[in-house]
Amino acid sequence: MKVPCLFPVMIFLVLFLPVQAAQVEWAVKEYHGNKYVPLSQVKEFYQMTAMTVSGTSITLQNSEVTMKFRAGSQEVLMNNVKFIFSHNVVALGSYHISVTDLLKVIDPVLRPYKIKEAKPFDTVIIDPGHGGKDGGAVNSLGTEADYNLKVARMLVENLRRKGFKVVMTRSSDTFISLQDRVRMANQYQNAIFISIHFNSLGTRGRSEARGIETFTLSPTGVAHYGRSLKESDFVKRQGNEQDSANIALATAVHWGSLQMLARANLTVPDRGIRRARYSVLTGIKHPAILFEGGFMSHPREKYLIHNPNYQRTLAKAIAEAVAFYRKATLQKVGTAKR
Ligand SMILES: [Zn+2]
Repeated sequence: MKVPCLFPVMIFLVLFLPVQAAQVEWAVKEYHGNKYVPLSQVKEFYQMTAMTVSGTSITLQNSEVTMKFRAGSQEVLMNNVKFIFSHNVVALGSYHISVTDLLKVIDPVLRPYKIKEAKPFDTVIIDPGHGGKDGGAVNSLGTEADYNLKVARMLVENLRRKGFKVVMTRSSDTFISLQDRVRMANQYQNAIFISIHFNSLGTRGRSEARGIETFTLSPTGVAHYGRSLKESDFVKRQGNEQDSANIALATAVHWGSLQMLARANLTVPDRGIRRARYSVLTGIKHPAILFEGGFMSHPREKYLIHNPNYQRTLAKAIAEAVAFYRKATLQKVGTAKR
């Protein structure tokens, strides 16, 4: 099936909308050392028209945005895209979310034009993960390092056609340390950084894991996904300067990939936009994400990853997403169009 070229723009506009905000006197509550605000005020602030509570599920809605929360859970759906929040939604009299998640997920997604640190850029740094003596994940069909490079090369072509300057941290099967990747990327100005990987959870027991996940650096005070909080998690990293831009870039790439794959009959599950402390994300001064394009350990998904059509579709989707991210973050409130 041919994907109409306007499609990505249309789907993105449904997610990144110039939502207007009301004046709200936030009723902040402290809980286990973090600050929380009531969802009823989130509704008011973003001028949502409805808030529905059913058991532990809470839905905020207007004609453009639907946000679904569940008490006791970090998983939140915004227009059906999965975000893994930094903190659980909690019941503190009424349902509350953390200020971190309000400021570092919801706001940059709903109002990308408000992100101060999202500056104009013309360079995209593509980082194909692993390489050389480090093959990354391996299965019966190939190595992750090779798949990463294949997708990265296609992505470079797509981005150049769109007029971006493109830099690769590696363009052949060579080993480059994580520190060197960061050092190389930080030599450039006016850039964004995208690290390309494929996932694996080994072959024993957990091989059912599949789907796409996109990582951004954990905000200060938030652990790497699935790990417990450490003292070092409270140290502000270079990459934290870009917290809001990171999540906006992740949203564009993650959602764009899922949508374009689905349109090409290559549907994969949405494992969410997550927080991590990978060293490439920690040290980069540009807006940065680490994209995991599927599970090489999954018995069927490994064939999908091996399929050049899948690789091409991913590369095309990421390039469209980069262009859209630039547009969404640079548009001004009054000039934004639907
Ligand atoms: Zn990897």
